[in-house]
Amino acid sequence: MKDIGSGKYYFEVGPIRPPNVGGNHSLLVRATRNCSWNRCAFCPYYRGKEFQIRSFEEVRSDIDAVKRIKDLLCGNGSVEKVPFRCLSLVRNWVKSGGRTAFLQDSNSLIMPTDDLVGILKYLSDTFSSLERITSYARSDTVLRKGLDELERIREAGLVRLHVGLESGNDEVLSLVNKGVDVEDHVKGGKKAIEAGFELSEYVMPGLGGKYLSEEHARDTAEALNEIDPDYIRMRPLSLHPSSELKKIADQGKFRENSPHELLEEIKIMLKELDVSSRICFDHSWNSWRNEAGGSLFELDYEGYSLPEKKDHLLELVEEGLEVDESKHIRAGIRSFKLKSIFQLSDDSLFLFI
Ligand code: SF4
Repeated sequence: MKDIGSGKYYFEVGPIRPPNVGGNHSLLVRATRNCSWNRCAFCPYYRGKEFQIRSFEEVRSDIDAVKRIKDLLCGNGSVEKVPFRCLSLVRNWVKSGGRTAFLQDSNSLIMPTDDLVGILKYLSDTFSSLERITSYARSDTVLRKGLDELERIREAGLVRLHVGLESGNDEVLSLVNKGVDVEDHVKGGKKAIEAGFELSEYVMPGLGGKYLSEEHARDTAEALNEIDPDYIRMRPLSLHPSSELKKIADQGKFRENSPHELLEEIKIMLKELDVSSRICFDHSWNSWRNEAGGSLFELDYEGYSLPEKKDHLLELVEEGLEVDESKHIRAGIRSFKLKSIFQLSDDSLFLFI
């Protein structure tokens, strides 16, 4: 990969980050590579890639490279030797105030606690402008850490955890091989909140398909009611052609919901929700149209506050159900190769999940 040449100014970047992190131009710090579970039937992103925990020294060296690039940019030095991708990321991050950072890849919480705490402290000590550091985490990893460890991590600067709940129904979780049951999701979510984290739970409308649609909606609302996370982020199922779930669908054991069926699912979920969370449709997969042809839901990172906006959201759902189904754009993979822009390796996708 040509990009790796200039070691002093090179730092590693993983393929996936949440959209709000992209919107905020967060600094991306790769603490682990790929996914520690890597078996969810709907998720093809890390297939065939080995999970690795990077050492504290490796990550520190990346942070040092970011600092060098930042110093060049701030001091008007020559950036000729800086790989384009690294330069772009740091430039955007600096321009947006250098306030946020995201630890990649899919489950950085799994790192040894001392290493993770060390990375967080080094990051904060190196960049005083940082106000928020966030990461993905799996519920079972949250559960495996002691509360005291989680509190240490939180105190070291990791503010928010993004967790893939996907569903609150055990049959659905088993179908898609999530590797976590509802009880673990609920316990993990509550524990994260108890440790002081802001919690973002990702929910996947359509994951039960036609056969489990209603159970998926009701039970997901129930699990969310128990957890009461800060954010609920809606990520409708997008059946990726190379996913295991597509194979299950091809065997006739899973049937995708239509856009209206997905809205009916969301309606059930909304009606059952009794939380004080913000519900966000902050991804282009939430691609329902309103009567004017625009986006039915606001693609806003802060979303709608519940319970205050529940009635408004239910009205939006009814509006979406009035729109002809053919007008709704089916959720689809909006991945894009940035090779031409960021000179990534051939298989590198940069996705906002
Ligand atoms: S959804 Fe998350 S936990 Fe599941 S395989 Fe994909 S990255 Fe891993």
